[in-house]
Amino acid sequence: MMHARDFTASGVATHEDAGQLLEQFCERFAEHVKVTRSASGARLETVIGSADIAVSSNRLDIKLRCPTAAMLFTIRSMVAENLFELSAGNALDLNWADGPQPSAIPNFREISVVDAYDVTPHMRRVVVATDDAKHFVDGGLHARLLIPPKDREPVWPHTEPDGRIHWPKGDDALTIRAYTIRSIDLGRDQMNIDFVVHDGDNVPGATWALTARPGDRAGLIGPGGGGVPAARKLILAGDETALPAIARIAAAMPVEADLRVFLEVADKHEEQPLTSDASIDVTWLHRDGATAGTTGALERILRDIVPASDPETYVWAACEQKEARAIRAFMKGETAREQTNFSIAAYWQR
Ligand SMILES: Cc1cc2nc3c(=O)[nH]c(=O)nc-3n(C[C@H](O)[C@H](O)[C@H](O)COP(=O)(O)OP(=O)(O)OC[C@H]3O[C@@H](n4cnc5c(N)ncnc54)[C@H](O)[C@@H]3O)c2cc1C
Repeated sequence: MMHARDFTASGVATHEDAGQLLEQFCERFAEHVKVTRSASGARLETVIGSADIAVSSNRLDIKLRCPTAAMLFTIRSMVAENLFELSAGNALDLNWADGPQPSAIPNFREISVVDAYDVTPHMRRVVVATDDAKHFVDGGLHARLLIPPKDREPVWPHTEPDGRIHWPKGDDALTIRAYTIRSIDLGRDQMNIDFVVHDGDNVPGATWALTARPGDRAGLIGPGGGGVPAARKLILAGDETALPAIARIAAAMPVEADLRVFLEVADKHEEQPLTSDASIDVTWLHRDGATAGTTGALERILRDIVPASDPETYVWAACEQKEARAIRAFMKGETAREQTNFSIAAYWQR
């Protein structure tokens, strides 16, 4: 049923093998969102809205539905970008009949660095100012950070009529990484973003945080991705990349909620206090010299505790891709949990 405040858009994609294109599209998204296939096409449900796609020989009829115009924009550009990417080499024509057609990206905001400091030896907090911090309060915990080339006036993206985002190229090309808005200070129009300072030769996200100076400019597209689960009993598991999201979920939980948190970090110096009105039990798992993303500790602990937990418990995990896949396979294949009762995400890839 359509809700009074729903925003919708419909599009038609023509492609010589629309069936195969839809197949690849669903395969790509199955890891991140709920995909339901039917004889006539597919339905994708995300936390920010849904996409119904009907297929005929050379045509995909796409209907998008979201609670806000900004979310509709996000889904439309995501659908468009992925369809064009997957149809590489074969002509794809994509036209949108209705829905907002902005040329500026509605959920883009420029940010500027106010301060940067170490929270722990390997977690650097960058405090950023925006003219609209309120924009980031609802609709997801995360954003895409757009890092402009050093010492150049930033050129920001805009939209194409086919729904894709036009990204600046060449010397103006941006580097894009996903981060969590750790906390928002509405009074000052400022936000904290916590960056893991990890190993690697070419690590633009971590380097941006390490070298950030007051006045440095960057962009954010968001909010998006997962939000605060509505459940009152939660198991939250993650490595340090998930620590900002877990901290924000914990801070948002009401007093009657019950949280069990498992955080894998390098060692005890990487522990941080988590504040919550809820009842919260935090277990820190130390790698003690092992390489990040290799211990399997989060998977082991979830295998131990999820089967014995109340079936109403919402299970949330975010970590390295391989471990996230193993946890998702366990949750889907070896527990009787409803898919609506867990969210398992890959936050980085080794
Ligand atoms: C929804 C979402 C929210 C996220 N929130 C946060 C957040 O709040 N804070 C945060 O720090 N990260 C967060 N991440 C993870 C972050 O996007 C990745 O770690 C990203 O790869 C970092 O970019 P980079 O430029 O530093 O390294 P990249 O250029 O992406 O990678 C370079 C090399 O570094 C390795 N690498 C990347 N990340 C790590 C790591 N954490 N530990 C060890 N090796 C690594 C890669 O394997 C690669 O070899 C989030 C990811 C997602 C999807």
